[in-house]
Amino acid sequence: MSKELDTLLIHGGIDGDEHTGAVNVPIYQTSTYKQWELGKNTGWEYSRTGNPTRAALEKLIADLEKGKYGLAFASGLAAIHTTLSLFAPGDKLVVSDNIYGGTFRLLETVFRPLGLEYEIVDTTNPKAVEEAVDEKTVAIYIETPANPLLSVTDIFEISKIAKKHDKLLIVDNTFLTPYLQRPLELGADIVVHSGTKYLGGHSDTVSGFIVVKDKEIADRLYYLQNAIGGVLAPFDSFLIIRGIKTLGVRMERHVQNALIIAEWLQKSGYVEKIYYPGLKDDPGYAVQRHQANGGGAMISFVLKKEYDYRVFFKELKLITLAESLGGVESLVCHPASMTHAAIPKEVREKVGIVDELIRFSVGIESAKDLTEDLQQAILKAKR
Ligand code: PLP
Repeated sequence: MSKELDTLLIHGGIDGDEHTGAVNVPIYQTSTYKQWELGKNTGWEYSRTGNPTRAALEKLIADLEKGKYGLAFASGLAAIHTTLSLFAPGDKLVVSDNIYGGTFRLLETVFRPLGLEYEIVDTTNPKAVEEAVDEKTVAIYIETPANPLLSVTDIFEISKIAKKHDKLLIVDNTFLTPYLQRPLELGADIVVHSGTKYLGGHSDTVSGFIVVKDKEIADRLYYLQNAIGGVLAPFDSFLIIRGIKTLGVRMERHVQNALIIAEWLQKSGYVEKIYYPGLKDDPGYAVQRHQANGGGAMISFVLKKEYDYRVFFKELKLITLAESLGGVESLVCHPASMTHAAIPKEVREKVGIVDELIRFSVGIESAKDLTEDLQQAILKAKR
């Protein structure tokens, strides 16, 4: 029976436990499994290679992303590290010009010294992507909406370029989750996630995922997952399964709140610039509308010069200054010194990640309380 996404969130993957009837997937807190005799076992051998709780989650994320194969990791970066390990020295990636700082750091300081090259491109412009693809290119790597400037890349358009030149398209779907956007249905080959964010949803577990459709790529990734070893623990797998059950209701409320707050900020007269692809005059609005269900719940903005952003951060009472995003609670961060500090200042500023930029992960609290908190902090920040 094919199920709607709202049902899959609760009953996708492996539903409950066939041995006991427990409605929740048990936490198989074991590192190893008894073998009955040499070469005869239950199919489970060692928990780095496979664990039933992790396997239930891996099947669940594959179902949600409309892929065939899911892999769970101890962090988003562990998932991205394993993905990049598909490539060899001399290979080149074409990469979005605003991506999570940690992904940039991984490319620049871990993979580049090993010979994996990359070219940074404005992937919102398909022509620029096409021009950057050359004979060395093996894959195009995008985030959409991107962290932290929420720029929107047209997944289908870029997938056409990837297919035409026989390259892979990798999409980081962290900001929207499969509830709002499914890149594999739009032509991507590999989806990666920081599950730490909306999938877990409660700011209590670090995790990451890869989802693919193709068996050959999946086999290589399973090999690398076991060989590199950055897998997700059974208890953490259970927490993410539990988080995913409420992903739909959380995302509805996150997006509803984000739109209210983005519109309020835009009309408030306090901001110089606002980035949110759910706003009609945002440059990414049309593509976002076409490829996703809503603008997501991340907003970035720059306050007008008369407000000191440092004081703003300090004066917030309800909204918490912290790294990360996607939890039920609202968080703000200062990309230049926090999430994107790994990117050199001149590279950051070229794409618009200025010191004054504020990134807001809109939670599911009362939108009225959130706007009141923003307003009182902005007013106190007046120079
Ligand atoms: N991708 C995006 C878009 C992110 O925002 C992050 C973390 O903030 C990551 C990947 C890395 O994930 P993790 O922190 O779980 O390693």
